[in-house]
Amino acid sequence: MTYDVVIVGAGFSAIALTINLLRTLPPSACIAVVGDDPGFGRGTAYRTEFHLHRLNVPAARMSMFPDKPNDFVDWLRRNGKPVFAEDFACRADYGLYLRDTLAALLRNRQRADVDFIKAKAICCTRREGSELVFNLDSGTMLRASNVVLALGVGSAGLPAAAAELPLRSRERVIENPWRLGWLSRVRPDDEICILGSGLTMIDQVLSLREHGHRGRISVLSRRGLVPHGHLARRETPEPPVLPNSGDISGLLRAMRQQVKQGAPWRAVVDGLRPQTQALWQSLTREQRSRFLRHGFAWWNIHRHRIAPEVAARFGALVEDGTVSVHAGYIKGMTGEGDRCRIDYRPRGTDVSASLSADWVVNCTGMERAGIAHSPLLQAMRDGGMLATDPLGLGICVDQRSQVLGPDGGRQAGVYAVGALTAGQFWEITAVPDIRAQAQDLSVVIADEVAKALPRAAQRA
Ligand SMILES: Cc1cc2nc3c(=O)[nH]c(=O)nc-3n(C[C@H](O)[C@H](O)[C@H](O)COP(=O)(O)OP(=O)(O)OC[C@H]3O[C@@H](n4cnc5c(N)ncnc54)[C@H](O)[C@@H]3O)c2cc1C
Repeated sequence: MTYDVVIVGAGFSAIALTINLLRTLPPSACIAVVGDDPGFGRGTAYRTEFHLHRLNVPAARMSMFPDKPNDFVDWLRRNGKPVFAEDFACRADYGLYLRDTLAALLRNRQRADVDFIKAKAICCTRREGSELVFNLDSGTMLRASNVVLALGVGSAGLPAAAAELPLRSRERVIENPWRLGWLSRVRPDDEICILGSGLTMIDQVLSLREHGHRGRISVLSRRGLVPHGHLARRETPEPPVLPNSGDISGLLRAMRQQVKQGAPWRAVVDGLRPQTQALWQSLTREQRSRFLRHGFAWWNIHRHRIAPEVAARFGALVEDGTVSVHAGYIKGMTGEGDRCRIDYRPRGTDVSASLSADWVVNCTGMERAGIAHSPLLQAMRDGGMLATDPLGLGICVDQRSQVLGPDGGRQAGVYAVGALTAGQFWEITAVPDIRAQAQDLSVVIADEVAKALPRAAQRA
């Protein structure tokens, strides 16, 4: 049997596409969803159980369906969790909402068939004609007319200096903090050093406190910038003042000017949001690269803000000295018995400083090397089925999310969704953007499936 669509992935992108395809494909179609994560649809973001792991987008903008903005808020109310539209709900509840939304569509008998297959896809090749063939780690082979890569992006690895640590100390280095098992090994007074100061760091600090940790936590990142908080009431976004040239420095100057003239900075950042994909696409590769080098960290802390309750909790820990944030460059890591010492050069100085801790936790965020996390993507690249983004932002796709090969040509029937497509869309990591991409892509695929129906009938 040949599936009309095989979706590879088990996070929000995969569930969003499955839901949209169930609404656009005819009942005769068949879909396979291949994911290696038992919590299908939740991914790293929404499988947490901890109540202070909040969404960083208000509930009113987290509906699965852009045309039904109250869908998530209504679900929360139906489930006895009344919230206001501007509240920041728990991520765990969002995971349950996704599950229920999919289940409701699956109960409809007049729909496409869906097989959920728990496995890892390890290789994809194209047979003569246009059929695509997947090999799974279970030994199974799947055939498909269309495939969608919804793999997310991996986490960044540890700084190279960690390789110098003796084995005994390396056990105290947590490379992937999302495997939450490490928390139960931490003693209440252990000292922790977290590398990276973004959203993952905030999550881990709060998880540590929830697990009874009371010791000191040092945070080290190149710039020492920590995400800002949302306000409890959202300010109306300011219409952006765009400079005539597509120059990023000019844009940032214009934004600062708006703020100087009295516009609230959050409203200025939010006002730019509807334009960010188009702005990104208007930049040259050199301009994008400059932005990634100089503006990315600054942009991130203003754009990807945390819920007010979370900001207040984290702020209190900084205030009472439990958490200290340092800006600097790691020079080396050494073992001190069971502990680790991190030598670093504080930003803007020539001196050396060091931090000593019982645990070092890698929270350096998403992988920027492109596809190092995925043997499947590497095999597809080696087989000439895809090309990596030149700036390390996932893989090359066109405006319709269709994957481009090394010669820039469209790969028939191969698509991608989510952060893997950041090279083309930039602003494509959060729900409001991915759900729109999934909706658009489901229409493109439904069109392809409809075109193939007469051909299949002729062959039969
Ligand atoms: C902690 C956290 C909090 C967030 N909070 C918010 C928020 O509040 N609001 C918001 O809008 N966005 C938020 N985001 C952004 C979030 O990334 C997206 O909303 C979304 O979860 C991304 O989903 P994804 O499916 O693209 O990737 P992922 O969630 O990474 O899922 C990819 C899945 O594919 C599977 N997979 C990979 N390779 C294979 C393979 N070869 N075969 C089979 N399966 C494979 C992986 O196991 C994984 O389960 C948050 C992100 C994180 C990490």
